[in-house]
Amino acid sequence: MSDVLSAPLVVEFPFTRSLGPVQSAFLTGLRERTVLGVRTDDGTVLVPPVEYDPVTANELRDLVEVAPTGTVTTWAWNPSPRRDQPLDTPFAWVLVRLDGASTALLHALDAPGPESVRTGMRVRVRWAAARTGAITDIACFEPYEGAAAGGEPAPHTGEFADPVTGIVAPARLDYTHTPGRAQSAYLAALEGRRTVGERCPACRKVYVPPRGACPTCGVATAEQVEVGPRGTVTTFCIVNIKAKNLDIEVPYVYAHIALDGADLALHGRIAGIPYDQVRMGLRVEPVWVDGVRHPDHYRPTGEPDADYDTYKELV
Ligand SMILES: [Zn+2]
Repeated sequence: MSDVLSAPLVVEFPFTRSLGPVQSAFLTGLRERTVLGVRTDDGTVLVPPVEYDPVTANELRDLVEVAPTGTVTTWAWNPSPRRDQPLDTPFAWVLVRLDGASTALLHALDAPGPESVRTGMRVRVRWAAARTGAITDIACFEPYEGAAAGGEPAPHTGEFADPVTGIVAPARLDYTHTPGRAQSAYLAALEGRRTVGERCPACRKVYVPPRGACPTCGVATAEQVEVGPRGTVTTFCIVNIKAKNLDIEVPYVYAHIALDGADLALHGRIAGIPYDQVRMGLRVEPVWVDGVRHPDHYRPTGEPDADYDTYKELV
C-alpha cells in the first residue's frame, strides 16, 4: 500500500455579483459614511438591509439612516487573525445593533483583549480611509463612551451620485488536504499514467476516482482495479465562458467520461475534434503532458461510437 498523501490546497475565485437597489444604496452609503437600513412592514429596521420582508416577502424600499454608533449584542474573541480579515491584530467578532436599528450587524471590534469586550458595551464605526462601496468601508468598530442616540431613524432616499452597482467578493479556501488511502493510491498510480479505481466487494462496481467506500452498499472498498485508458463520453457540455487564469480558448467541451472498466464517469476536457462534433458515445483516450499528474485532455480514438446500452447506467 502506498503512503497517504497530504498537501496544501487553495481554492480561490472572485465572485462577481450585481446589486439590487437596496444593496446598492447600502454599500454606496458606506462609501459616503452613511449607514442605511430598511424598514419592514411591521416597522422593524433591518441593518444590514434586505430587499424582501423576511415575514411577508413583500418588496422593501423604505430606507432609513441609522447612527454610526451602537451596542454590542454578542461577541467572540479571535486570537489569531487570518489573511484578509478586517484587522491583523487579535480582535473581537461582534454583532452590533446600531442606534436606530432593530437588528445587529456582524463586524470586527478593535479592542486590546477579550477582558475589554462585553455584551452591552458601546461602540462606533471606524471608517476606512479609502472607501469603495463595500462592507470593508467600515474598517472596524471601536469602543465609544457616548450614550445611545435617541429618536426614530430619518427616512433616506438611498440616492447618491455615482452609485455602486456591483461588487467583486473574493472567495478563498486555504487548507491542508489529506485524500486518504484510496485517493492516495489513485494519485500515486496517475504518476505512472495509470488510472486505478476500487471495486465494491458487495455490488462489484468499480469506483474511479475511489473514495474508499461504496456509497450504495456502505462497505469499504479495497480491491484495486486498473481501468481505461480509453473511455466513452457519457454526457458533455460546451463551455462558452472563459475562466480567469485558464488558458483555454472557448468554446471547448467538458465531458463525463466512463473509462473502460469503470462504473462511474469522471470528467475531463475533450479536444482534437471540433466542439460541435462531440457526442454521447464518442470513444476517447487521454493525452498526457510532461510534469502533470492527470491527463491534459481526452481526444477521439477513431473507434466507432459506443452503443448507448453499454453506458446508459453511467449517464
Ligand atoms: Zn457496492
